Amino acid sequence: MVRRLLLSASTNAWIRDRAMKTPFVMRSVSRFMPGEQLEDAMAAAARLQAGGIGAILTHLGENLGSAGDAEDVTRHYLHVLDQIHAARLDAQISVKPTQLGLDFDPAFCNRNLQRLIDRASAYGHRIWIDMESAAYVDSTLDLFRQARERSPLVGVALQAYLFRTERDLAGLLPLGAALRLVKGAYLESPSISFSKKRDVDANFYRLACQILNEHQRPGSLLHIATHDSTLIDSVARYIETHDIPATASEYAMLYGIQEPLQHRLVEVGRRVRVLISYGEHWFPWYMRRLAERPANILFVIKNLIPGSDRAGKAGRAG
Ligand SMILES: Cc1cc2nc3c(=O)[nH]c(=O)nc-3n(C[C@H](O)[C@H](O)[C@H](O)COP(=O)(O)OP(=O)(O)OC[C@H]3O[C@@H](n4cnc5c(N)ncnc54)[C@H](O)[C@@H]3O)c2cc1C
Repeated sequence: MVRRLLLSASTNAWIRDRAMKTPFVMRSVSRFMPGEQLEDAMAAAARLQAGGIGAILTHLGENLGSAGDAEDVTRHYLHVLDQIHAARLDAQISVKPTQLGLDFDPAFCNRNLQRLIDRASAYGHRIWIDMESAAYVDSTLDLFRQARERSPLVGVALQAYLFRTERDLAGLLPLGAALRLVKGAYLESPSISFSKKRDVDANFYRLACQILNEHQRPGSLLHIATHDSTLIDSVARYIETHDIPATASEYAMLYGIQEPLQHRLVEVGRRVRVLISYGEHWFPWYMRRLAERPANILFVIKNLIPGSDRAGKAGRAG
């Protein structure tokens, strides 16, 4: 119920405009985001790299107002790729198709994506395509298929909460695809998605195993993109018992979440990447992070009580 409320609020402009000016919201967002500027994200990526963790950078924003905005986003990401290369950072980028103009014209979006892939491929870096809400799955997978024909250095996210994902996966596996498996962050109808956590988790595990079983196909890679330590352990056991090479998968988590687990995985020789978000348009993304964990919601409720200084401490402690 609270999750649904937060996810509905994530798309409400009235709430967004007020919340973004609220000091406690700005304070708590810093838990998930090192800063609004690219330089903040790159500095965080350099710190992670020193600890053996790779990064994925993403500029926040979705559903733009005009095609010109999409052109600006594309130019921004081209600049990011140049900066990553110049700084010799172990960092990739992750893009939302709606940021590249999908709502205006899929062909225009495709051209923007190709420009990014060509630049990233020239530097030997992978690009990830985020999966947005269910209405975009078909068009996003079309974009991915076209991109995959052009370069193996492109991957796409798949959401374990959608019923359709198993069927989508069956079509993607023969391509030798880099796939980021996530549970799914949007508010979807129970007619198309699992609503119970245990069903989403079971589907996540099933899909992860299917992807791992295809590890010998050139280009195949699984990003195990979850903070769920039980699922991480189950998938790790599958990898060990089936002698799947370490190069077939990487663990991916969000900045500021499960940091001790990220380091523990690196210590036992696993490859880990952390997705770092930055940018001014953080509100919908921040609400999705809150919706993911009851403790985060309690943190917000405590902050709504005037004079509660314990809340700030709870937020920092996580
Ligand atoms: C690298 C990466 C890329 C992603 N890309 C996409 C995408 O393209 N499309 C999409 O729909 N979704 C994406 N997501 C979000 C994903 O769908 C989930 O919403 C998110 O990862 C939370 O689910 P979980 O797998 O961690 O499991 P959950 O069951 O939500 O959480 C498991 C445990 O992880 C910890 N945890 C999880 N979330 C938080 C949080 N916000 N704050 C504090 N602790 C937390 C808690 O301990 C919780 O008990 C991405 C996630 C990651 C890590």
